[in-house]
Amino acid sequence: VFANVARAPEDPILGVTVAYNKDPSPVKLNLGVGAYRTEEGKPLVLNVVRKAEQLLVNDRSRVKEYLPIVGVADFNKLSANLILGADSPAIQGNLVTTVQCLSGTGSLRVGAEFLARHYYERTIYIPNPTWGNHTKVFTLAGLTVKTYRYYDPVTRGLNIQGLLEDLGSAPTGAIVLLHACAHNPTGVDPTLQQWEQIRQMIRSKSLLPFFDSAYQGFASGSLDGDAQSVRMFVGDGSECFIAQSYAKNMGLYGERVGALSIVCRTADVASRVESQLKLVIRPMYSNPPIHGASIVATILKDRNLYHEWTLELKAMADRIITMRKHLFDALCARGTPGDWSHIIKQIGMFTFTGLNRKQVTFMTKEYHIYMTSDGRISMAGLSSRTVPHLADAIHAAITT
Ligand code: PMP
Repeated sequence: VFANVARAPEDPILGVTVAYNKDPSPVKLNLGVGAYRTEEGKPLVLNVVRKAEQLLVNDRSRVKEYLPIVGVADFNKLSANLILGADSPAIQGNLVTTVQCLSGTGSLRVGAEFLARHYYERTIYIPNPTWGNHTKVFTLAGLTVKTYRYYDPVTRGLNIQGLLEDLGSAPTGAIVLLHACAHNPTGVDPTLQQWEQIRQMIRSKSLLPFFDSAYQGFASGSLDGDAQSVRMFVGDGSECFIAQSYAKNMGLYGERVGALSIVCRTADVASRVESQLKLVIRPMYSNPPIHGASIVATILKDRNLYHEWTLELKAMADRIITMRKHLFDALCARGTPGDWSHIIKQIGMFTFTGLNRKQVTFMTKEYHIYMTSDGRISMAGLSSRTVPHLADAIHAAITT
């Protein structure tokens, strides 16, 4: 009965790893997926995560019962504090409902499903370009996806004029997806002044901001600094959606830990919204897993562990910045034609190299370097040892 099922294409991002795994070359390099690697090229489990896990294992009172539909209560509260600030008037006034979801993707999806059921405007504007999964998450939840201008390939910076024009001509009430910091794939973020312009446009048109926060801690050097965009919007007292992921900043990729927060105008609305979120979640996966959220809650509620986390997070972010410098220097040393300063200017895990599809294919074929076809490379996957190989490949792709 399934004889006519067509073969689906590989996922554009995760498919890169599938191709990489099949390559027998000893020099192969996977810069596709945004996952942190050490200088030795190995995945990293944070020390603080190991400590938290040990504490959890030693606690014999812990059981494996089902969690409530909305997840670990502590985790939800602490996650809202992390992104909004514990002193946020929205938190103090109980205007925020937070539910534990399956990492960033699950948080986006639960938010999207809620909007499709309970919000009058079904159009969501996402930046062009954006993380490849956004279109699918929102479309499959029943929303209509449109794009707003974001990246200017000529300046390799933000097209703020185009962005404001596109949001200005969006229908009243339209949803707007914003990357809280470290925009994926471009590494280009608005300045605080530009965020303020974006906020004013969004509020004046009664648009609904939906923040995707997958890289808190990787952009400005501090967790609070990276939450400034979100806090600016929440500070004005209007509604706001936030999807948080702990995949990158705690290295909990496979544990699937995230949270959806919805900031409402009154505490009563917030509690009604939460009651509806439960109806969204229950038939999808009933309730979320315990382990990852317990790790996060253990770290966030303990002063010392929290401090240790911030240091380990900073070390990851700093290593990525060092890789940017190494790669830039290596291209300069080779005299690779073109201006490569965007490699050191861009923010977060990725460099949007400007390499085209043909050049990417060349680098994969000749140098066994794997990346997404839009020329995005994960700087977190590089090390001092592998930078020369990448620089050779870029140089050859540009000059042949
Ligand atoms: N949003 C963005 C912008 C991302 O880059 C990612 C991870 N690549 C996610 C959301 C979600 O990731 P996860 O579901 O693993 O938390």
